[in-house]
Amino acid sequence: MSALTAALTYLAEHRSRHTSALCELLSIPSVSMDPAYQADMTRAAAWLAAYLHRIGMSHTEIITGAGHPMVYSEWLGADGAPTLLIYGHYDVQPADPIAEWHTPPFTPTVSGDNLYARGASDDKGQVMAVIAALEAWLQTSGRLPINVKLIIEGEEEVSSTALHRFVAAAAERLRCDAVLLVDSMMLGPRQPLILYGTRGNCYLEVTVRGPATDLHSGMFGGVVDNPFNVLSRMLAALQDGETRRIQVPDFYQKVRVVDEAERALINQLPVSEAAWLHLTGAPALAGEAGFTVLERASIRPTLDIHGIGGGFSGPGKKTVIPAQATAKLSMRLVPDQDPHEIAELARVFLQRLAPPSVTLTVTVLSASHPVLVDYRHPAVQAASAAFAATFGNPAAFTIGGGTLPIAATFQKCLRAPLIITGFGLPDDNLHAPNEKISLPSLFGGSEMVARYVSALADSSA
Ligand SMILES: [Zn+2]
Repeated sequence: MSALTAALTYLAEHRSRHTSALCELLSIPSVSMDPAYQADMTRAAAWLAAYLHRIGMSHTEIITGAGHPMVYSEWLGADGAPTLLIYGHYDVQPADPIAEWHTPPFTPTVSGDNLYARGASDDKGQVMAVIAALEAWLQTSGRLPINVKLIIEGEEEVSSTALHRFVAAAAERLRCDAVLLVDSMMLGPRQPLILYGTRGNCYLEVTVRGPATDLHSGMFGGVVDNPFNVLSRMLAALQDGETRRIQVPDFYQKVRVVDEAERALINQLPVSEAAWLHLTGAPALAGEAGFTVLERASIRPTLDIHGIGGGFSGPGKKTVIPAQATAKLSMRLVPDQDPHEIAELARVFLQRLAPPSVTLTVTVLSASHPVLVDYRHPAVQAASAAFAATFGNPAAFTIGGGTLPIAATFQKCLRAPLIITGFGLPDDNLHAPNEKISLPSLFGGSEMVARYVSALADSSA
């Protein structure tokens, strides 16, 4: 029996014990954003560290600091073989609204093929799938085929402050040949997905101030500028109504030109326009002219207004000229756009549009860089092959439309290819009541990781 076959056999034979172990972890309510669960955060980190020590990782520590503890574990006995850094998180979202759960959120419950609990999919189940794969190798071969460094943080749901700092400070210690981020999902039970990048984000708050106080529109209408009227014109000028192109000068200057092969790759994603319509409930789809829906959701930048505040919008009517009006908006950015440069371009453009009858303030609420990985990199393709051997289909590839700030930090500090993927499913109810993970996906995830570490070893031999 080959070493890989032994590891896979071990996984098949220990499924129920691995499920029980996951249930133990899931029963610890490690809610990072609520200080009431501080002790449970510590307990969850300690539980993971003990488990990792027990399965034979050579060094495991709990890193404490300002925020929630982080679990770091490594096995570095494969001289000359590649090193894989694996990332996941043990903190979870609050369980509210509790009344909508069919089973208690921290009493893991198996029903059919699914395991229900807060954190089952995001991200404890996925973390334990990885750990089971490492365990299978360590217990059957006494070693891993490659070197592994594992980071399981406790602040993913609350901005990862400690991790950003740790990665920047410990870049030498974390040096690796690839980073596997396991906190995502497949498109379906048999269709894995790898994100070879994510969009960045530039979030702005725009405030227009006019008169010193709210005024009567009968007395002062036509005399002073209304900040709401001005803000509306400014916001309307940001995007062309026909083409949906963003009108900020030089906005597209650094947008990478995507070649035909890559566009074809993205357009292969098995998600139809009908599916988008179904997902959104919108009467029709819309977006930038000249690009498909799949391209608009991945390789093209966007601009969205999230809210407009000020003045009067209660029931009935009130004829007020508001003293100020505020809008929150953000732009999803693609390589090689820089969020700070984009913020400045937008600020200059808005300033140019503002008449002297008002004052304008533009505040940058957040700025996150986009991430791009070469999808042809052998470490990325090996992950796709490991998926194919496990689930019957190679991974689909796209760039994630959302933003993953920690991915940008990993890329900047470690300069290694990232494989952003996961074993969840679109209907796992992340951050919602009745979160679950599908057990076949969970077991498949372990097999995929067991195969992947083997393939990385073979590729370097
Ligand atoms: Zn997550």
